[in-house]
Amino acid sequence: MSPPTQLIESATEVARKAYSPYSKVCVGAALITKAGALYTGCNVENASYGLTICAERSAIFSGVAAEGASFRIRELAVIALKLEFPPCGACRQVIREFASADTKVWFLRGGEWTSLTVAELLPAGFSLA
Ligand code: ZN
Repeated sequence: MSPPTQLIESATEVARKAYSPYSKVCVGAALITKAGALYTGCNVENASYGLTICAERSAIFSGVAAEGASFRIRELAVIALKLEFPPCGACRQVIREFASADTKVWFLRGGEWTSLTVAELLPAGFSLA
């Protein structure tokens, strides 16, 4: 199993635009919304490290800016050009805000595409609802 080709290609392409002079890790994320639109994002680092934003949140915030409060993720893929890792804890919480429990999140593990649902990624996520 792997994510749709469009997600892989878009995430890889946007990863090449990452601004990562400190970690040298270029990450790209691509997502398809329930409305059928595609949004991408890359990591943007800052000399004040805490201000850095991950690719996943960059893509999600672009989607919200375009679709507004109705923005919902159907499927998301993240790829780093030289490393493999799932979304960080901060991104998991933000993904959860705009996804369903069964929304698939794709990432590479051992050279293979792996998906976990949002519920698997963040089983006890924070919610005010
Ligand atoms: Zn993150």
